[in-house]
Amino acid sequence: MKISPVEELFTLFNETALVLQEELSCTYLEALAETGENLFHGSVLQEEVSEITVKRLEKQYNEINLDNFSKEEIRKAFQLVILKGMKENVQPNHQMTPDSVGMLISYLVDKFMKQPTFRLLDPAIGTGNLVSTVLNQLQKNVQSIGIDIDDLLIKLAYVNANLQEHPIELFNQDSLEPLFIDPVDAVIADLPVGYYPNDVRAQDYQLKAPEGHSYAHHLFIEQSVTHTAPLGYIFLIIPNGLFESEQSQQLREFFKKEVIVQGVLQLPVSMFNNKNAAKSILVLQKKGEGIVAPKQALLVNLPSLSNAVEMDKILKNINKWFEENKR
Ligand code: SAM
Repeated sequence: MKISPVEELFTLFNETALVLQEELSCTYLEALAETGENLFHGSVLQEEVSEITVKRLEKQYNEINLDNFSKEEIRKAFQLVILKGMKENVQPNHQMTPDSVGMLISYLVDKFMKQPTFRLLDPAIGTGNLVSTVLNQLQKNVQSIGIDIDDLLIKLAYVNANLQEHPIELFNQDSLEPLFIDPVDAVIADLPVGYYPNDVRAQDYQLKAPEGHSYAHHLFIEQSVTHTAPLGYIFLIIPNGLFESEQSQQLREFFKKEVIVQGVLQLPVSMFNNKNAAKSILVLQKKGEGIVAPKQALLVNLPSLSNAVEMDKILKNINKWFEENKR
């Protein structure tokens, strides 16, 4: 039986990661970052690895020519091995953005971003899966920047970007600390949800909590708006309860002042473990000269993404909204 290109790459990543995990006494995800880097460079970079293992790994790497794989095949295979590694232990806030959500974000970015060239930021880039899904779908020249506080995840993002030949500028830092980047035209992010432990830093934000810890996801929204150029768009994966917390009034006032809400697309609850974990996609536009608010924001309750008939109907409605509001 002939195996698919994604399976072929998955097997290579998986088998070589298992060998390195054993040799380096590290976690599967750490070994995955190492093997990805080796594959990209075409040689074994870890000095601790025995000669016999180097030979074995090199033989496996040499059997694959990355030029024969599309960027999407590489992304999907890497996504599958990361998912395998994440099953071992990962906090919910560090989980990779699923494909279906990445596809929807790509569709929205493509629809809203009319210009052929633009700057894109993901301040919670994680493994880079969301960004690379978007980059692989867009037929545009996108200059991308990614930031993450987690050094292993950003290493995976770096390897992911290299293997798919996406020139992404990466920063390993807390995204809520000052960012030394020029304004971007679009932000995409699957927001980490919860409290931000650094109360001192939070003081610099309009959306700081009146007392106690602030919500990291609120500060992330403000930071995204701050680094977006006027009229730029912000696409965020948010918890459904965003506008229901005790600090939501503050958020509404911030929105009134700084952005217009272009749309809220509720993802199907069936995608999540439980109703409380369910999420939506929020689309904002930063205020600027000549901004035109839509007659009505794009408000959509997405059906189960496997329900083709319902999904088709919804996509028709979304397209109609774009024709009426975004010519
Ligand atoms: N879109 C990513 C992907 O496809 O892999 C997943 C994003 S995950 C839901 C949220 C990310 O936010 C995690 O990678 C986590 O390390 C990062 N994060 C949490 N707090 C952060 C902070 N203060 N600064 C930068 N990154 C942070």
